[in-house]
Amino acid sequence: MPWNPIIKSRRDWDVIPNLHDYDTVRRGFSWDRARAELDGLPAGQGLNIAHEAVTRHAAGPLAQRTAIRWLGKSGTVDDYSYRRLDELTNRFANVLQALGVAKGDRVYALTGRIPELYITALGTLKHRAIFCPLFSAFGPEPIRARLAIGQAKVLVTTASLYQRKVAAIREALPHLEQVLLIGDEQPTPPRTGTANFHQLLEQASGHYRIGATDSEDPALLHFTSGTTGTPKGALHVHGAVVAHHITGKLALDFHPDDIFWCTADPGWVTGTSYGIIAPLTNGLTSIVDEAEFDAERWYGILQNQGVTVWYTAPTAIRMMMKVGLPLVRQYRLGKLRFLASVGEPLNPEAVVWGEQAFGRPFHDNWWQTETGGIMIANYAAMDVRPGSMGRPLPGIEAAIVRRSDSGEVEPITEPGQQGELALRPGWPSMFRGYWHEPERYKKCFAGGWYLTGDVAKQDKDGYFWFVGRADDVIKTSGHLIGPFEVESVLIEHKAVAEAAVIGKPDPVAMELVKAFVSLKDGYEPNDALKRELLGFARARLGAVVAPKEIAFLPTLPKTRSGKIMRRLLKARELGLPEGDTSTLESGA
Ligand code: ATP
Ligand code: MG
Repeated sequence: MPWNPIIKSRRDWDVIPNLHDYDTVRRGFSWDRARAELDGLPAGQGLNIAHEAVTRHAAGPLAQRTAIRWLGKSGTVDDYSYRRLDELTNRFANVLQALGVAKGDRVYALTGRIPELYITALGTLKHRAIFCPLFSAFGPEPIRARLAIGQAKVLVTTASLYQRKVAAIREALPHLEQVLLIGDEQPTPPRTGTANFHQLLEQASGHYRIGATDSEDPALLHFTSGTTGTPKGALHVHGAVVAHHITGKLALDFHPDDIFWCTADPGWVTGTSYGIIAPLTNGLTSIVDEAEFDAERWYGILQNQGVTVWYTAPTAIRMMMKVGLPLVRQYRLGKLRFLASVGEPLNPEAVVWGEQAFGRPFHDNWWQTETGGIMIANYAAMDVRPGSMGRPLPGIEAAIVRRSDSGEVEPITEPGQQGELALRPGWPSMFRGYWHEPERYKKCFAGGWYLTGDVAKQDKDGYFWFVGRADDVIKTSGHLIGPFEVESVLIEHKAVAEAAVIGKPDPVAMELVKAFVSLKDGYEPNDALKRELLGFARARLGAVVAPKEIAFLPTLPKTRSGKIMRRLLKARELGLPEGDTSTLESGA
């Protein structure tokens, strides 16, 4: 386990709620108390995500505050105040009503990060239908599969995405009654059950009364990233908003005046829980950027929008590291107070780079589509341990467990021991099932624990350290090696931009460690560099853990949510079928 230097937390601002004493906060926390921060629908009619995110603010002092500032690809800026967002989402809820959409029906969105996506999400939640976002970059088959699994009744998309990706699969989707198109083009030939999104919105009333909502009413259907296999549709309920709201404060350090930027796309759960819900329930201004990653654009946004809290992902951070420090030095980023990362393990090198580039470390945090919200984090008032995902949030019980052959689950209490990361069920944003896959859901639980499928360790101070996904852990000569540890050492080398490590079957050692590496600009893949990297890794990791083979790749295969797909590298290495690649980034 890499015991890296601790980065002392910066307490030069008021951290709320007072988290300085981790144990006291945990003891004083209860989900009921967290729930009390929210309003609930009038007349005790329950907890509805969209009411908490929009309606309650639109009726109060925050009505004119910018809820969402949208930055278009080509430079357009459009501000949506809480009041404007409330009215537009009321209109969309009325559109659904008029189309005969009932509570619990599925409404999908297939769009880039455009305002209509946010209107659709929140309007659907108001109407108590289930919202399901898809990545606009998906090809027709992954789109068809997900629409079919969730038996989508309504799809909101753009005219151009429709023509390119949906028109041809439409006949295969008997449940899909309505497609609402953004943009002026209409499909050719015209198709019944297809209407213009904006026309319907304009015709609808701006008043809508949210119906009684039970905390257990389904709200969101979210597909997992598909890193380890076929994506699963995780179902979340309206009561999850308690977790979205409070974890925004606890793990992302939300303060009332914050300008928050979550760079994730809502096609992935981070873009919904923290790209839509959490900043709005907390009454912040949330930045939405339509464009894809570009280091200059991103630094420009951080500077020009005065972003104070920034939530991004390791892939993006590594791309910024690849571009280097001179660029970031050209921007004035003094307003930036808190930086956080999720999605993959964050290499210690990247945490420390945050300090160099922004004067603040990145705060890594861990969670999954299934958990609906952040579970383990290096939070604001806690010292950051680079390479660690932090400690469990208040209200969350996490443990490292071992599964015996007979299926028993036993927590491992000894620090430093590797095992499966498990959580005690019961937090509000916990998924309530995999859509139409009850057996797969059942398999996630044993002995009173939810088993995450990730392997980790806990140190004596209670920090958790990610080792690898259970499927990716390498068994070599009687040792268990986590790919993350090896990858983190490789990216410490000045030539390495990204690294992915797999276990390659070997008759003697069972598996041997093989690394795939992409290089920073200016470095040539050649045998001399290969030897240098092998030696570099051996010196730091020892002969058992260090890779025995290295291959150079221009880029590593990743999911749409930016996760390295080690299983694909392994399948390719072994000449096996690639399995489900529906979430693979194009060209990877
Ligand atoms: P699938 O379940 O379809 O294989 P996925 O697990 O990648 O895909 P997500 O729910 O988007 O789908 O991702 C959750 C997983 O991402 C976690 O289980 C973990 O493996 C990884 N992860 C997320 N954040 C972190 C982190 N901070 N450190 C280490 N791993 C992380
Ligand atoms: Mg998963």
